[in-house]
Amino acid sequence: MLFDTHAHYDDERFDEDRDTLLASMPENNVGLILNPGCDVESSRKAVSYANKYPFVYAAVGIHPENIEDGWEADLETIRALAQNESKVRAIGEIGLDYYWEKDERARARQQVVFARQMELARALHLPVIVHDRDAHADSMEITRRYPDVIGVYHCYAGHVEMARELLKLGYYLSFTGVITFKNAKKAKEVIREVPIERLMIETDSPYMAPEPFRGRRNSSLYVHRMAETIAEIKGISAAEVERITTENGRQLFGISG
Ligand SMILES: [Zn+2]
Repeated sequence: MLFDTHAHYDDERFDEDRDTLLASMPENNVGLILNPGCDVESSRKAVSYANKYPFVYAAVGIHPENIEDGWEADLETIRALAQNESKVRAIGEIGLDYYWEKDERARARQQVVFARQMELARALHLPVIVHDRDAHADSMEITRRYPDVIGVYHCYAGHVEMARELLKLGYYLSFTGVITFKNAKKAKEVIREVPIERLMIETDSPYMAPEPFRGRRNSSLYVHRMAETIAEIKGISAAEVERITTENGRQLFGISG
């Protein structure tokens, strides 16, 4: 049974068939899904799917690209959701995105909002789901400031040394369909180095469909491709990758089997 640890079912590309698609997951061997939020609205939606489907869990948070004036009030709503909703199992996704944000002041604000959500995770004893795009040094600096918080770096794009430090800090690394692309040399090198006990798989649906579905709308139905690719890289069976990555996700997000 596979665990897609990162999928955005609130995206409008699922408006036509969200319910039939989600309902079909267990019969397609996708036994668990974690839907992170990116702002208040999508966090509320994530909670609503989690409350509707027993196999769906939620994370709530403000994504670096979704920070708006008034974010302090949004953060209070996020806190209330995380405290009151039993299927919220992480704060996320949070972090830094310097690929889309070039302005220094806006980047500084991303750092503040990231740190405040790390504090929230620490206070509520929840793990975090970190988005780090082209911001490795600053992401690591903030991550190090909270040694009692653990979590996952999702769609991991850093190098091997950074991966080693994250492992020491207790983090997991998760990988998307990017690893099925021919040019994914760096990610494959990291997967080779990192023990399977610290890896997770995700689709990041509806984005980044894996090969051979590249260009299509992504969904958790394709998460088996990440298990197969990791199996090839590590020279073990896909069934083994499936079993261990599901167990890793259960551990981190506190989902008993
Ligand atoms: Zn995401």
